Amino acid sequence: MSIDRASPPLSPAPERADFIREIVAADLRAGKHTTIVTRFPPEPNGYLHIGHAKSICLNFGIARDFGGRCHLRFDDTNPLREEQEYIDAIERDVRWLGFDWGEHLYHASDYFEQLYDWAVHLIRTGRAYVDDLSADQIREYRGTLTEPGRDSPWRGRSVDENVDLFARMRAGEFENGARVLRARIDMASPNINLRDPVLYRIVHAAHPRTGDAWCIYPTYDYAHGQSDAIEGVTHSLCTLEFEAHRPLYDWLIDNLPVPSRPRQIEFARLNLSHTVLSKRILLRLVDEGHVRGWDDPRMPTLAGLRRRGLPAEGIRDFATMIGVAKADSVVEIGQLEYAVRAVLNRTAPRRFGVLDPLKVVIDDYPEGLVEEMVVPNNPEDAAAGTRTVPFIRELWIERDDFMEEPAAKFFRLAPGREVRLRGAYFVTCGDVVKDDAGRVIELRCTYDPSTRGGDASDGRRPKATLHWLSVAHAVPAEVRLYDHLFSAPYPGSGGRDLFADLNPASEVVLRGSFVEPSLAAAEVGQTFQFERLGYFALDPDSIGGRPIFNRSLTLKDTWAKVQAKEQAGGTSDRA
Ligand code: ATP
Ligand code: MG
Repeated sequence: MSIDRASPPLSPAPERADFIREIVAADLRAGKHTTIVTRFPPEPNGYLHIGHAKSICLNFGIARDFGGRCHLRFDDTNPLREEQEYIDAIERDVRWLGFDWGEHLYHASDYFEQLYDWAVHLIRTGRAYVDDLSADQIREYRGTLTEPGRDSPWRGRSVDENVDLFARMRAGEFENGARVLRARIDMASPNINLRDPVLYRIVHAAHPRTGDAWCIYPTYDYAHGQSDAIEGVTHSLCTLEFEAHRPLYDWLIDNLPVPSRPRQIEFARLNLSHTVLSKRILLRLVDEGHVRGWDDPRMPTLAGLRRRGLPAEGIRDFATMIGVAKADSVVEIGQLEYAVRAVLNRTAPRRFGVLDPLKVVIDDYPEGLVEEMVVPNNPEDAAAGTRTVPFIRELWIERDDFMEEPAAKFFRLAPGREVRLRGAYFVTCGDVVKDDAGRVIELRCTYDPSTRGGDASDGRRPKATLHWLSVAHAVPAEVRLYDHLFSAPYPGSGGRDLFADLNPASEVVLRGSFVEPSLAAAEVGQTFQFERLGYFALDPDSIGGRPIFNRSLTLKDTWAKVQAKEQAGGTSDRA
């Protein structure tokens, strides 16, 4: 969305209404705000994942629906874990997802000077103090859920001493961890977040943006709400784990001369089966080499999903489909796949690819003849037009489209059986040629010239239609078959080691595949449907004339269903 375009406030479509949009609508009706301002506040310590996409769609979506604006704000308060690579990746991924922050790009670090001044204000009003306890001692003094905390011996320092010490913290006089600035609230509060939370730490480290200007850095709790207030954010949406931080958020806003009063609202974070959405774990997967990188097609990162060929539209539809609620739950990864298939089925051009090739020779087809067969680009979309695929005497078909001794419900090619080659001819299988080891290496077939285009004048209809490629024209390709990163639906549940649940078959690389000639000109970022096989996207690793295709998703696997049904005693078919 463009946040600067003056668009009239729209009321959200009913299916998009959720408890947060209801609050926003009510606030507008009550005249509390004239313009709605939200923000998406990533910490640049990793790549964005599909969980972040939920938050992005929510924040930018509300701004769009209510004619407001959404800021992109980097929550860059921890120089030890943050990197420019992450900052760049986050901007790229938010844009790719389809959102635009216009000129409203901010950084918590833009506010370091203001935040410092406000910290001094808290000291001067008796609401903050410099504490010399170590991190361990602070934890020990904090108490537990059932026991109140104890006051630090430094809690009673005078305002002047605190102002002086805080200035010297900033000046770099003390080493890491020697002192912190804490809010003076209530060490006996039942809410541990109010037991004099830390506002500033000493960290002698260069910051990607402020360089060596600072050696004290604000904590998330201190920086976040004040940044919201500086930017005029009206609704600060965050995940449920911050619910218990809200009293602190409000306390800081109440006790500082901030220019506006944002409201924090919590919603349930997205959890997705068969994967993990924690940056800490994703970083380990990358660092320990379990995947090819942050953008590995198995990763739930936006960069990974993009490389895998999942369209941004499908991810946005998924976000709409799962909605926004207040209770934590785990969403089946199948729901994401469902949303993505719906988009790809509509938009992905159809192409021929043969993953595991088996040669077919049509004995009675003229040698040297090349016919250009016309096939539709998308049967779901006539406007997508047609293309031609060359047909000759020697073809590749899929090895598993042939069975020498066909199983009961197997209707594809077998000796003596006729099938349709998509957009071409009916062919009948004759001799089966094997190598010395007994492996089938070639099928000798005959064809019916009167069935060109795929229909017989006598109305006979083979039970199966196969995809195929011309041996002379097919382009060799590497195909990477992807499956869920974790085989367990809830990785690491029941006390198992999370990494033991990694799916060893999550990536299967096929080096002997072929694709149709037109795919030699495919571009990175395009996703195709290889007929009967699934959706495939060109990988950026592709070099020269040797494409690499990543399987984005399978089609609905009806054959697997047939087999399952057979085992259960039912009957079915696959064309
Ligand atoms: P992680 O726990 O994976 O490190 P994080 O919450 O620390 O994630 P941030 O960069 O701080 O990551 O997140 C930016 C925004 O995205 C926050 O508002 C956060 O609440 C939201 N967010 C992060 N993970 C999810 C999720 N799984 N579902 C919904 N929103 C999320
Ligand atoms: Mg965070």
